Amino acid sequence: MKIMKFGGTSVGRPDRMHQVKDLITRDPERKIVVLSALSGTTNALVGIGEALAEADKDLAKNRIDALHAHYLQFYKDLLKQDDTLVKAENIIKEHFEFLNIILKISFNEAINRDILAQGELLSTKLFFTLLEELQIPAVFLSALDFMSIDENQEPELLKIGEKLKSILAEHPENQIFVTQGYICKNHRKEVDNLKRGGSDYTASLIGAALGTDLIEIWTDIDGMHNNDPRIVDKTRPIAALSFDEAAELAYFGAKILHPASIWPAQMYNVPVKLLNTMEPDAPGTTITAKETTTGVKALAAKDGITAIKIKSSRMLLAYGFLRRVFEIFEKYRTPIDMITTSEVAVSLTIDDTSHLEEIKQELEQFGIVEVDENQTIICIVGHQVAETKGSIKTIMDALNEFPLRMVSYGGSRHNVSILIDASLKNQALKSLNEGLFIW
Ligand code: ASP
Ligand code: MG
Repeated sequence: MKIMKFGGTSVGRPDRMHQVKDLITRDPERKIVVLSALSGTTNALVGIGEALAEADKDLAKNRIDALHAHYLQFYKDLLKQDDTLVKAENIIKEHFEFLNIILKISFNEAINRDILAQGELLSTKLFFTLLEELQIPAVFLSALDFMSIDENQEPELLKIGEKLKSILAEHPENQIFVTQGYICKNHRKEVDNLKRGGSDYTASLIGAALGTDLIEIWTDIDGMHNNDPRIVDKTRPIAALSFDEAAELAYFGAKILHPASIWPAQMYNVPVKLLNTMEPDAPGTTITAKETTTGVKALAAKDGITAIKIKSSRMLLAYGFLRRVFEIFEKYRTPIDMITTSEVAVSLTIDDTSHLEEIKQELEQFGIVEVDENQTIICIVGHQVAETKGSIKTIMDALNEFPLRMVSYGGSRHNVSILIDASLKNQALKSLNEGLFIW
């Protein structure tokens, strides 16, 4: 059995949905098809929620109507037969009636999550109707019946597996199952979600929970590239990555894969393939436990980073200092990405600045605190990159012209991270590309 997950652009146009249908019927293997919302829909739903949160019902109504118009065209281009057209019309009616009812009741966070869930419900129901029209046997699974998170927002992998296995056992004859990415139930049994981009996570959780043979993530690019193709001209897809390498790249900016989606696959050792819906025969990227060639494999960059430096003479020869610093970040639930220390100072980076002011104030008890905003982490990834002869020299030579705010080396064997001012990011990525990869 395998999982096939299709992202928003892969289902975002009627002709693309037809392509997805071709892809899931190419081989006879049993599969669970996980779909995102049509591209643009989740953003639109976020916009509706924001308008309601500000009690701007007119704006919310306009946004609902605009989205509604999009679907009223979409289904007509997707389907041909009268009976399935009526079916799709009713699906759209049901979900937009729901959104319009929400306009009339008082808004809260739980309702917002209900709004956000409409995208994946619509995409899967419309796709399922297409399969019905084409008489392709399939089973519709509601992710709300099996995908759950606990009070810490962590997925309940064992429960998910048990529920799914018993649901699948009810359909021993079926080969194709269709379900929603992203959405789930929380511990209060309310509709919730796995955060933006979470459909990849859904696919990985299902693959891990069932111990499938493979998780395929279908997007609009031919795998994970060795540099950011939006910035650098010459990039190429990486054929093979280890889970560790992929996790570093996904976390540090390779937008193709949701960073949380690595751990379930890694824990249950299920290979992940990143494939391109527009070019289905391209090899893409295969992510497995296998450690591949040594040396630099890829770069990724993560923007919106804030660096904090704490300079303290009290740190000199003191123990327990770092613990007290970390406790402040823990108190404000703010994760730290990079850290470097000298004997009298420590620098670290965060990307969530919602509690920056409080954190800064509390850190001031230790010494002088300096904050640098608009920083970028460039993450250089490769198996044993830190130990491969010459790697560090090549990296530093390529960055010779750039002031480096922080360098993190040796934290993991697979990663060297550099912090630079965001304004230098594009130039630095290009320079590293020239220096590190042979063309
Ligand atoms: N539809 C959700 C989003 O846009 C989840 C996903 O596509 O992965 O964030
Ligand atoms: Mg995505």
